[in-house]
Amino acid sequence: LVPRLQPFTSTIFAEMTALAVQTGAVNLGQGFPDFDGPATLLETARTAIANGVNQYPPGPGVPELRAAIAEQRTRYGTSFDPDTEVLVTVGATEAIASCLLALVEQGDEVVLIEPYYDSYAAAVAMSGATRRVVSLVADPDTGRFRLDVDALRAAIGPRTKAVLINSPHNPTGTVFTRAEVAAIASLCIEHDLVAITDEVYEHLTYDGTEHIPLGSLPGMAERTLTISSAGKMFNCTGWKIGWVCGPADLVAAVRAVKQFLTFVGGAPFQPAVAAALRTEQQWVADLRKSLETKRDRLVAGLTEAGFGVHPSQGTYFVCADVRPLGFADGLELCRALPARIGVAAVPVQVFTDNPAQWTHIVRFAFCKRDEVLDEALRRLHQLA
Ligand code: PMP
Ligand code: GLN
Repeated sequence: LVPRLQPFTSTIFAEMTALAVQTGAVNLGQGFPDFDGPATLLETARTAIANGVNQYPPGPGVPELRAAIAEQRTRYGTSFDPDTEVLVTVGATEAIASCLLALVEQGDEVVLIEPYYDSYAAAVAMSGATRRVVSLVADPDTGRFRLDVDALRAAIGPRTKAVLINSPHNPTGTVFTRAEVAAIASLCIEHDLVAITDEVYEHLTYDGTEHIPLGSLPGMAERTLTISSAGKMFNCTGWKIGWVCGPADLVAAVRAVKQFLTFVGGAPFQPAVAAALRTEQQWVADLRKSLETKRDRLVAGLTEAGFGVHPSQGTYFVCADVRPLGFADGLELCRALPARIGVAAVPVQVFTDNPAQWTHIVRFAFCKRDEVLDEALRRLHQLA
């Protein structure tokens, strides 16, 4: 393996899920739901396979899916031409890598916000660019992880080409406020940066919290690549149908890369996601409500078990401080938990360049059936 990719030989999700499988632990580590998406989605895919939709789809994605994606983004007041401004990818993961490979190279810098989703640092490294990393900070009053705008400003230099933003944010559950999004937008405009925004949890916000896409702010449409994915919307994380929306010139650049990474993907799943985007908005609204309740269930249980729980406004995840239980190192704890009490979780420090600040934080996923959450909590109570 080339030296610049040597830090990326395995992922924490693979490690913790393998431990969970080995020990029969309840897996609150890797974020994937343990219940299926809407019947329309599943049925349309089955029918597509039965009807021979099994060969290469068109390069940019099937037209009905691109149209449904563009239509779905109108809810934010943004408009995209399905023919030139929407590209279907193999999950958000390919979209992220393709955006970076298309737009940055050796000598360029990309600003990431930590903790960052693990593929970000790897994709920046693949591109040859260098990452500059800004830490979220826990608000001393509420515990919410917030953007440090001064730190973001300080991370932007003459070589900075792009910022990669994720809101709703994995792993903290932070949803950036309008003020936070506006501050990012104004720095992007001031420094003429491209913004890549990962919005895979766009529908999964709680307590009435509004998701504000960076690309919907004035002056941002022409410089923003917006990424999302069906996985989190319709409980089909294994289908890997994602997409990028943005101005035609940037999307054309991303498409040039994407065509030589995978060319195309997911032929029978594309019409299924298109159908679900058109007809299953209520299903997604119900999912959001049900996840809000699951978040409450997990937060209450973790608090009762003695963790210091940070608030989560979105995603599948809550972060918890393990120090009140007498532990110091989340990575050590997560490696021991499956064998010790039969629960898997993910240490947040592995998503950072400054692990010392994050050593004590562990991420738990709540996108699980209630009985699974309850069993995990019953076991976690044994730690106290
Ligand atoms: N971004 C974030 C923030 C994620 O949590 C995930 C993982 N689910 C992805 C991207 C990857 O999405 P996909 O499975 O569509 O590639
Ligand atoms: N996105 C999921 C998570 O953060 C899982 C991703 C993966 O396994 N690569 O847990």
